[in-house]
Amino acid sequence: MNTTTTSSTGRTTPSGDYPVLNHPPARPPLIGDHAERTRTFTWDEARGWLAAEPGERLNIAYQAVQRQVDAGRGSAVAVRFLDRTAPRTELTYAELADAAAGFAAVLTGLGVGPGDRVCTLLPRSPELFVAALGTLWNGSVYCPLFPAFGPGPVRQRLDLGHVRLLVTDRASYERKVAEARDDLPHLSAVVVLEDDAPPGTVSWRDAQTRAEGLPRPPVAETGPEDPALLHFTSGTTGRPKGAVHVHEAVVAHHATARMVLDLHEDDVYWCTADPGWVTGTSYGIIGPLTCGVTVVTDAADFDARRWYSVLQDEQVTVFYTAPTALRMLMRSGADLARAHDLSRLRHVVSVGEPLNPEAVMWGTEAFGRPIHDTWWQTETGAIMISNVPGMPVRPGSMGRPVPGVEVAVLARGDDGRALVRDGEVQRCGPDEVGELALRPGWPSMFRAYLDQPERYAAAFSGGWYLSGDLARVDADGYVWFVGRADDVIKSAGHLIGPFEVESTLMEHPSVSEVGVIGKPDPLAGEIVKAFVTLAPGVEPSEALRRELIVFGRHRLGSVAPREIAFDPHLPHTRSGKVMRRLLKARELGLPEGDTSTVEETP
Ligand code: ATP
Ligand code: MG
Repeated sequence: MNTTTTSSTGRTTPSGDYPVLNHPPARPPLIGDHAERTRTFTWDEARGWLAAEPGERLNIAYQAVQRQVDAGRGSAVAVRFLDRTAPRTELTYAELADAAAGFAAVLTGLGVGPGDRVCTLLPRSPELFVAALGTLWNGSVYCPLFPAFGPGPVRQRLDLGHVRLLVTDRASYERKVAEARDDLPHLSAVVVLEDDAPPGTVSWRDAQTRAEGLPRPPVAETGPEDPALLHFTSGTTGRPKGAVHVHEAVVAHHATARMVLDLHEDDVYWCTADPGWVTGTSYGIIGPLTCGVTVVTDAADFDARRWYSVLQDEQVTVFYTAPTALRMLMRSGADLARAHDLSRLRHVVSVGEPLNPEAVMWGTEAFGRPIHDTWWQTETGAIMISNVPGMPVRPGSMGRPVPGVEVAVLARGDDGRALVRDGEVQRCGPDEVGELALRPGWPSMFRAYLDQPERYAAAFSGGWYLSGDLARVDADGYVWFVGRADDVIKSAGHLIGPFEVESTLMEHPSVSEVGVIGKPDPLAGEIVKAFVTLAPGVEPSEALRRELIVFGRHRLGSVAPREIAFDPHLPHTRSGKVMRRLLKARELGLPEGDTSTVEETP
């Protein structure tokens, strides 16, 4: 049970009466002892964990694949591809390095050079990995697009990114791009996977044949500060922003894949995020390959039975997924998990949304171990806060800062954001809620918001990067997520974070997912309204609604939801996040704003 206390300052804090989980790691973690590592760690040290490149050079593709080949591990399996309809295939590190170099030759042949942007709009496939790594090999900038985007979001991103080359399949090209080609003057080439390339495109095979005569290009001579990746944010709070990352980001990708995901060379690792989002690139491609593991990737969509079969049959040892997926697995019951042999699985990790303590506890039932949370953003490029292996897990807390990352919670002004006066910030004390901030300087920090220099500048203040998320840090340095600054509810003098209200309602057995918003109220300013998706087989009724109100009041006191509505499909971003701003706009009859990243309702 999780109860809430409200302090005199009107902030709410979960009392955290879940047990601290102290499962011994199944294998000595690479990070060693978190406190000790934090004391001695420097990013220079982490740079030394990568292979040396000539001069001041640093290239992500070199570190991800060629490095393994040079180290004599070329025959190790780099990626294993699963698909519902196609046979299982594998690429070794040597094959992937060769194919990446081949794709770099294709780019050169098509006039795409260093700094030019290359997009993929592809399912999780060998070609996607080859195009991503080949683009980086070439010194060009890789920008993945989520394959289920409709024509609008695809065109918008191709246009905003001044993209020079797109790799896609024939159907996607014809449906999403062809008509708009004249409005995309920067798009000089399109490569399609099929042999019968439509007009204005070239087939993957022809492009490769044309490049065959060319010598295998060496890895581009990129420096650490050269742009490498362009990632659009999830669009949870508004129009997606383009975050620009540089080759130096690989230092953080590698260090965190090692210290947080605990990737050893012999691991079989599955990251369920699509490379269309930053997680799928930082930790679906780059980080794990720099660690020399075998990456499993599945082109199929979520299906609880299939997922457990993949974990079992591929003998996955480390699994990185998201709370939405975990909630869906929870809905299908722990028995289904236990019906599979998951004995090889030693580390389960989550990102993207608040991880409800209920889900962490469920992990101990289903997987025999707690789920480890990680917090980071498109802008941070890599994990910043985590329950690293070996550190006791406090369910509901995201864990502690990763070695090399300095975190602060900054006092807020009336707008909910950090208060900066004359360049000075005020830090909150233990357990006080404020804006989560990071000390700039970690290698994967974004270097720009595409075409929005003022917005970028505004993200830094008083010597800190301001994340836009609210959190508190307890006396032992554990960070507790409260909500996004935009989502926080102000009710009768209380500041209420949606996360803890949602987590508390999720403890009710009839509830499977919750989204909470503030609804304007003449007396209280705002009241808490919860939108609830019920567990399978549970029918909505007035009696259940009342029961949930009482359940909430009992556990949350004055910050409990006053209104509850049943909603079988909460709006999610395509990356799986609950979109509270849409719940609010719909409740208030306001415009929905940018909806380019909204998932289609099934
Ligand atoms: P946009 O910036 O376009 O509104 P977004 O913030 O959802 O979209 P991402 O960069 O994909 O785009 O997501 C980062 C955000 O996701 C974080 O700022 C935080 O709000 C949320 N998040 C990520 N991991 C966690 C976590 N472990 N616990 C709580 N929230 C998380
Ligand atoms: Mg964001």
